[in-house]
Amino acid sequence: MTAFALLPHAENGRVPNYVGGEFSPAQGGEWLADEDPARAKRLAEVPRSRAVDVEAAAEAAGSARRGAWGRASVEERADLLDAVADAIEARLEEFALLESLDTGKPVSLARSVDIPRAVANFRFFAGAVRHQSTDCHAMETALNYTLRRPVGTFGLITPWNLPLYLLSWKTAPALAMGNAVVAKPSEMTPLTAAALAEVFAGLDAPAGCFNLVHGLGPEVGQAIVEHPAIGGISFTGGTATGKAVAATAAPMFKKLSLELGGKNPSVVFADCDLEAAVPGVLRAAFANQGQVCLCGSRVLVERGVFDEFTAAFVEAARAMRPGDPQAAGTSFGALVSAAHRDKVEGYARLAEEEGGEVLCGGKRPDLGGELAAGAFFEPTVVRGLAPTSRCATEEIFGPVVTLHPFEDEAEALAIANGVRYGLAASVWTRDLSRAHRFSEALESGMVWVNTWLLRDLRVPFGGMKDSGVGREGGRHSLEFFSESRNICIQL
Ligand code: NAP
Repeated sequence: MTAFALLPHAENGRVPNYVGGEFSPAQGGEWLADEDPARAKRLAEVPRSRAVDVEAAAEAAGSARRGAWGRASVEERADLLDAVADAIEARLEEFALLESLDTGKPVSLARSVDIPRAVANFRFFAGAVRHQSTDCHAMETALNYTLRRPVGTFGLITPWNLPLYLLSWKTAPALAMGNAVVAKPSEMTPLTAAALAEVFAGLDAPAGCFNLVHGLGPEVGQAIVEHPAIGGISFTGGTATGKAVAATAAPMFKKLSLELGGKNPSVVFADCDLEAAVPGVLRAAFANQGQVCLCGSRVLVERGVFDEFTAAFVEAARAMRPGDPQAAGTSFGALVSAAHRDKVEGYARLAEEEGGEVLCGGKRPDLGGELAAGAFFEPTVVRGLAPTSRCATEEIFGPVVTLHPFEDEAEALAIANGVRYGLAASVWTRDLSRAHRFSEALESGMVWVNTWLLRDLRVPFGGMKDSGVGREGGRHSLEFFSESRNICIQL
């Protein structure tokens, strides 16, 4: 099977932009290399687009809104999303392989999580927009009702860790509400976004409703955020980039959603079911090589079970062996790039300088053969660091986890809330009252109790503090990707 069969418009490994229903290179004719991080080998090239390409995409999106796409009924929009879901599902294996090659994630993970969830996102928002209702507020002498109308054109800017999943999370509700979109994936992982463009083309979707412009963040991303005809921005990425995006978009009064970084705690109380907590906290720590914004990279453990938990956790982490992402049995793949692996490795060295004890990992595995130069790093567990150390407070976004003992609930809460981030947390306890009390006190947009990353697409998704602004998911997405207007009629 060749995953590139999904990209019939890629000639000589060059993957084009998709603007106004046409596949085209960047107007300046420049290209960027896209690598397979497990083999340090060139996979493809993508256009290095510039502001002029964003201009063309914004124009195409505007024409779509004034044309066939603007006239599409809710039913027609929902049908398009369902058709996109069906088309991705029909070629799930090829999508999974493409995602794995591009990101270094295990193909088993892409097959079981990334791609099925992208399919689910399109189906969910098709259903959500079909069934959405509107508010009505009756007064004695008047009736108010709320209209939801598209904003116009949305810029969708996404990171490299969950490429198709996060792009579909934004594209589906934006289109469901009748907007046109200009999307920019990370230039490190552009291939499943390109395959999504092929899906829209194959379905004869109205030209310009979905536009894809590849390139670098400070060039294409910035041009999207700055463009006056793009009325809203949905951004997922790092906190520093989010700040730059907000600095440009906020004074232009654009609708803005920022899903940013995290340094999430997994909090293990002595009364928990340790047999469930160890694998649960392990998955939270190392899923997708620790490159999920929701990953629990700070593990806080009540003193009474600290040694027992640590022994079992380290043994399980040691058993996770990095391997060929495309091999069937691999559960731990490569990091997204050599540069990112170097950054993660730098934090492992810093952990030692800060006085931590590396209990496992802390180094590159010796895989040999064609994987010898790959961006691999072993699952790493560090004990003995102060909760205020850099390693325990800065987002590493890789397979490095710090363990911290605590004496009681108050101390656990102080450590958990003692960082600038507030995205997600998991709490492991059998005490129901404590579960409620502690979850409520956590400064965290999302809390899982006795589980992690159990997703219901209807719930609000987003972070507090420096982890973001706004919520997406379910009706929150439908509200974000539309303008609410009130009509008041005197009776
Ligand atoms: P990033 O460097 O912030 O990049 C995210 C996206 O923004 C990329 O497409 C990037 O393009 C683009 N970009 C860069 N500079 C820009 C600018 N000045 N204007 C507009 N766009 C710009 O993040 P990343 O390293 O790809 O992803 C990892 C981060 O994402 C982590 O912090 C993680 O926690 C966060 N994340 C958050 C969530 C969430 O839901 N909260 C989910 C997933 C990931 P280039 O790739 O070309 O730089």
